[in-house]
Amino acid sequence: MSDRSTHAAVGVPTPRVAILGAGAAGLCMAMQLQYAGIHTFTVYEQSDGVGGTWRDNTYPGAACDVPSHLYSFSFAPKTDWTRKFPEQPEILGYFESLVDDHALAPHLRFGTTVVAATWQDEDATWDLELGDGEHVTADVVVSGLGQLNRPNIPDIPGLDRFSGTTFHSARWDHDHDLRGERVAVIGIGASAIQFVPQVAKVAEQLTLFQRSVNYVAPKPDRAYRPWERWLLGHVPAVRRAYRASIYWRFEARFALMRKGNRLGRLLQDRFGKEISAMVSDRLPAEALVPDYTPGCRRILIANDWYPTLLRPNVEVVTDGVAEVTKDAVRTVDGREFPVDTIIFGTGFRTTEFLSPLRITGRDGIELDEAWADGARAYLGVSVPRFPNLFMLYGPNTNLGHNSILFMIEQQVAYIRALLVRMVREDAAAAEVTRAAMDRYDAEIVALAERTVWAEDCHSWYKTDSGRITNNWPDYTVRYRRRLRHPVAGDVRLTPRAAVRQPDPASR
Ligand code: NAP
Repeated sequence: MSDRSTHAAVGVPTPRVAILGAGAAGLCMAMQLQYAGIHTFTVYEQSDGVGGTWRDNTYPGAACDVPSHLYSFSFAPKTDWTRKFPEQPEILGYFESLVDDHALAPHLRFGTTVVAATWQDEDATWDLELGDGEHVTADVVVSGLGQLNRPNIPDIPGLDRFSGTTFHSARWDHDHDLRGERVAVIGIGASAIQFVPQVAKVAEQLTLFQRSVNYVAPKPDRAYRPWERWLLGHVPAVRRAYRASIYWRFEARFALMRKGNRLGRLLQDRFGKEISAMVSDRLPAEALVPDYTPGCRRILIANDWYPTLLRPNVEVVTDGVAEVTKDAVRTVDGREFPVDTIIFGTGFRTTEFLSPLRITGRDGIELDEAWADGARAYLGVSVPRFPNLFMLYGPNTNLGHNSILFMIEQQVAYIRALLVRMVREDAAAAEVTRAAMDRYDAEIVALAERTVWAEDCHSWYKTDSGRITNNWPDYTVRYRRRLRHPVAGDVRLTPRAAVRQPDPASR
């Protein structure tokens, strides 16, 4: 952990900030701390590089469904995107470039997992336990772990007996050659619709075990023409206007997330009619036609999905998977599909948030305990009884309609402003009040109830009991407004003078 330094503007020590994760969120926080003159931070990253999800997800075809020019930070724009929708290597390259551009290297600690964080009330600090048993002290912890970092591999009976190869889409086995193999893909969501068309080109036989049907819309993607790249690279006003036009077009799509909206019904009808033309004995309606309102699960975009389903070497199976045998996948209706490799496109353990990191707040309360009936956080960022702990891309901050980088920027700006205030007022701790948390939570629950996510469809946006823990249930401009103008008194600051000062020799 970096030592304390003195904030140049006010002459008081700046907090030691531990940032967990060097993905988009962690990097954004680090850059903004540099801008704020708080250089006493360390970014702990378990892998050996930055990029988070864009480092983990290297599956063939990995790309983003948010247009390129909206998919960089507004204060550090990438100006030379090569295509309208960015692909994984270009996105990862962008995040890697931020390290040098913002002099972050001395702050990055790779190959380091934080396994536990414990609040120490007596001196208002966090004790962090690292994977190798080392302990470090921080004044503030910012989690940049996000929602999509723990692959979900279902507990399918017999999986341990399977003699072939298995891997998850977020841990792609690039050393394994799929050419000429019989491949099963279990779970068809945002990731699978990107890698399945690539796998179908090389596998001898590809069997897709699809439990829920997706809405897949055309992807208006292409490479930028040389003159477009020149214009966007050299005329900032054009680039800013273009970025804003993308943002507002996407923002308008939240209307589709409102329960009972007419546009959704129209789209469902139109999609159903168009896709029904593809229905055949090989591709029955239950493999093609979603039975829920558009937006209830993420609406996907791809141009090669339906052509892939029509390939002779591709089969869609809609019956549930019952078990895996030594060399086959068996469905609940008793059919057996011999396979060499199983790829899991089964998404992530999204509702567990910071787990398996063990976080203990004031009076020994564990975060798991505080979240026993579903994760919740004030503004998606903080939790009562967990002072100086801030989350990025935390509960109820995911989107189904716009760029998550926008949300991360708002959270980072909010935390930065709070930390600067703590420095200015020489506060040792900041903690959201219980009353503020309860009021905010009631608002979120009421807003979420008015969205299509609350309807009867299965998605990773909610817990098994139906609480919508992942998505922000309103326009993102409203989220921005809340974080830019927080309610006075919602967060309580503890003056440093009220906290016992530790012996400097112990630091
Ligand atoms: P996902 O969208 O959650 O899809 C996982 C799929 O696996 C679901 O359809 C799920 O079906 C199915 N599944 C889970 N357990 C299963 C089981 N035991 N048997 C059969 N099917 C099972 O996961 P993902 O595709 O990895 O995407 C996750 C998120 O990552 C996306 O929603 C998106 O936010 C992000 N992502 C973004 C992009 C992008 O372009 N920006 C690209 C890829 C991913 P049920 O729904 O029925 O459970």
